[in-house]
Amino acid sequence: MPYNKDVFNTPYYKEPGPKLDKDSPFESMMERFRFAAELLELDEGMFNYLASPVKQVTVSIPIVSDDGQIKVYEGYRVVHDNVLGPSKGGLRFAPDVNIDEVKALAAWMTWKCAVVNVPFGGAKGGVRCNPREMSQRELEHVTRRYTSEMLDVFGPDQDIPAPDMGTNEQVMAWIMDTYSMHSRQTETAVVTGKPIILGGSRGRKEATGRGVVTVTLAALNKMGIMPGKTSVAIQGFGNVGSISAKLMYEQGAKIIAISDVSGAYYNKKGINIPEAIAYVEKNSGTLEGFTDGDKITNAELLELDCDVLIPAAKEDQIDRKNAANIKAKIIAEGANGPVTASADSILDDAGILVIPDILANAGGVTVSYFEWVQDRQGYFWTEERVNRRLNRMMRDAFQLLYDEKEKYNITLRQAAYVYAIQKVSNTLRLRGIYG
Ligand code: NAD
Repeated sequence: MPYNKDVFNTPYYKEPGPKLDKDSPFESMMERFRFAAELLELDEGMFNYLASPVKQVTVSIPIVSDDGQIKVYEGYRVVHDNVLGPSKGGLRFAPDVNIDEVKALAAWMTWKCAVVNVPFGGAKGGVRCNPREMSQRELEHVTRRYTSEMLDVFGPDQDIPAPDMGTNEQVMAWIMDTYSMHSRQTETAVVTGKPIILGGSRGRKEATGRGVVTVTLAALNKMGIMPGKTSVAIQGFGNVGSISAKLMYEQGAKIIAISDVSGAYYNKKGINIPEAIAYVEKNSGTLEGFTDGDKITNAELLELDCDVLIPAAKEDQIDRKNAANIKAKIIAEGANGPVTASADSILDDAGILVIPDILANAGGVTVSYFEWVQDRQGYFWTEERVNRRLNRMMRDAFQLLYDEKEKYNITLRQAAYVYAIQKVSNTLRLRGIYG
């Protein structure tokens, strides 16, 4: 029995500590990390190693803006860990991004890659800028200068960025081109989330939603619920939310509510999802004015009586204040950090199965891994092969963690953190500390 069961009797497990009053994704991640470390009886040295990023780089990014002035932005890249392989993680362009946020997100990537067994460590990058107020030319200059400042960090065998908030396929194409110009050869594998024509992978855009649905179906199967008899509520109707909705709909599930920033739409008979997607495409990307459902609030959507709840919008949506009102049997975390650590034990006590973000939305990084593999092989797979391998990896990861959860009577989230931390620390012990 490898785990320290006494931790269940510690004050933390029964009643989360006061620091959780100010929930934040970083604090939530650290609480779960600490908890898993206690379960594993991780020694202090290993704890400190895993709590500290291996590399943090801050750079100035000067560009000449469209009005001829010099503007200077701040950019970051944090490599949390590279024990399992080159580090992997998105690049975020946002006005409020800062090094602490990037550090937390980088650690999150380490655990996510370990959970789905892709051979990557975790990293994250950010540039403090507002892409909505910048021209394409300015965005290109910021991206290229940022990439050139990170030439010693990035590399197909070192650190591989991907899109995140405020960045897209075009930004990835500029990173690939800038890196390639400096290395004097085309290096497609230095970045993922590229356009397919530049070495991107088929199925990458749908991968996160597809992964959410694969693990949701696996969870329903464990509970003996048929997908065709399932009611589902989904918060957020962007990439992850709309693809999850479409694939659950194709499984015969009844999608009783969907939402976006314009509000939530409830129809107890079930919403026609292909029509909702077509509506959003025609309506400048929003559900505003959607009529196939009664308007309710996003808060009400979370508390609907349904089998599956998929929060796929943003962090901190279910906390200690509303956790007791959740009626779903399964919560599949499409978004990163939609449930705060202070809500974990409330949901667990209510018998709700939470499929944690580091498993549920890991389909994106899994197909990023496939993209990297295809770029290195110079051989590109069919969409059918990508989807088949994605489904297999997600199902295997779910089964593995579910077995751990059952065996040690812990939550699926605890099982995910324990598995990830154990995997990274065991690998580090074998590699040893150089120097
Ligand atoms: P997106 O921008 O495509 O969609 C976000 C959706 O959420 C939009 O419909 C938006 O209107 C809605 N939204 C925003 N605020 C809301 C609110 N307060 N209430 C209800 N809806 C709201 O983003 P995405 O790529 O779908 O990402 C969603 C979440 O999934 C984020 O947490 C992201 O970090 C996470 N995630 C995304 C990927 C990916 O591959 N896209 C991978 C892993 C995790």
